[in-house]
Amino acid sequence: MTISAFYQIFGQVVLVAGILLLILLSVTLILGRMLIEKDRLVFPKLLLFTMDVFYGLFKKFAENVGVDAKIVDNIGVEVRNKVNEKDFNKIKPKDTILVLPHCLRNTECEAKLDTSGLVCENCNRCVIGVLKNKGEEMGYKVFIIPGSTFLTKIVEQNSFKAVIGVACFQDLNLAMMKLSNFSCQGVPLLRDGCVNTKVDSRAVLEKMGVRLKEAKKLAPKSSCSQDPDKRGYF
Ligand code: SF4
Repeated sequence: MTISAFYQIFGQVVLVAGILLLILLSVTLILGRMLIEKDRLVFPKLLLFTMDVFYGLFKKFAENVGVDAKIVDNIGVEVRNKVNEKDFNKIKPKDTILVLPHCLRNTECEAKLDTSGLVCENCNRCVIGVLKNKGEEMGYKVFIIPGSTFLTKIVEQNSFKAVIGVACFQDLNLAMMKLSNFSCQGVPLLRDGCVNTKVDSRAVLEKMGVRLKEAKKLAPKSSCSQDPDKRGYF
């Protein structure tokens, strides 16, 4: 075979691979949107494959076709939640960790940080105390962490089978990808950022197995200094 024939075949192979990749990304985007908008999960393994192998490329592709790249992480979280749901529901709270981001804390929070994260004193100023109290009462190990390095340490130093995580879409998707050997459930933040973030507490409590009626009762009373809804309560 001559060199020019080799390059011709090589070029054709690259072109075909490129076209197949574009088809794969387009199909994943369509199926992902179907999952988010219609709650229909089709070909979950294909979605996870694209997400795990072509994560960065998939984000760029979404942007290039005029879709907010956030959708990629949104799809990732939704697929992983659905795929893990059955196994997760079989695991007891004592074998599950609840991981909350410290950006949910009240701006006047006085809790200190130790090697496993923030040591919440449950001062009733923010939702973390409510979730931590209820979680520990049910048997969950609760961690309030400032970043993914803490998550790595938690995984190394604790024995557990399942995780409930709260974070922004991107951190949540990447963490669930990293923790794929465990049954993970994620609740994305309603408002992300570095401080004053917000979460749907009821969604977290529901993931923990708390029934809605009880979840409502856990809402802080009027003694709180801020409007509870603004702090991500119920
Ligand atoms: S309840 Fe919130 S503000 Fe109070 S100590 Fe815990 S994390 Fe800090």
